[in-house]
Amino acid sequence: MVDLHGRYDQVVCLDCRRTYSRRLLAGVFEELNPGFLERAADGGLVEMAPDADATVEDQALISSFVVAICPACGGTLKPDFVYFGENVPKDRVERSYAMVDQAAALVVAGSSLTVMSGLRFVRHAAKESKPVVIINRGATRGDDKATIKLEAGVSQALDYLAAELPAL
Ligand SMILES: [Zn+2]
Repeated sequence: MVDLHGRYDQVVCLDCRRTYSRRLLAGVFEELNPGFLERAADGGLVEMAPDADATVEDQALISSFVVAICPACGGTLKPDFVYFGENVPKDRVERSYAMVDQAAALVVAGSSLTVMSGLRFVRHAAKESKPVVIINRGATRGDDKATIKLEAGVSQALDYLAAELPAL
């Protein structure tokens, strides 16, 4: 398993690259900012977006916030996740290519393959003449490379295949 775009449950130091549990960091945030969440919630000062971003308009609330730093080097911490405009770390891309090279086929489950970070593995598998199976509701950028395209939800399709395919 390769978490190509990273993990939201971890935090990485941008300076020394150490990773920390986001759950542990939540405790550090609470220690540095006692009562912050209650103040923000009580005043309706934070608006949460579906992608877990938060909009904070209150300048006093923002300026009162104490940011946690890397306990090892004092560096800047961020969620260990690849955001738009960032690149997937090279070693992670190389591990993914190696997995595709060792595989008999590539199955894409639930992705529109809109960004190149995933599409490149479909193109690579197709170039190596490996079967590519895409399970997705709606068109994907890899449809022209797919050996089989299943227009279905991932859970439904995988449950069906698990029930219908003979045990290997
Ligand atoms: Zn650090």
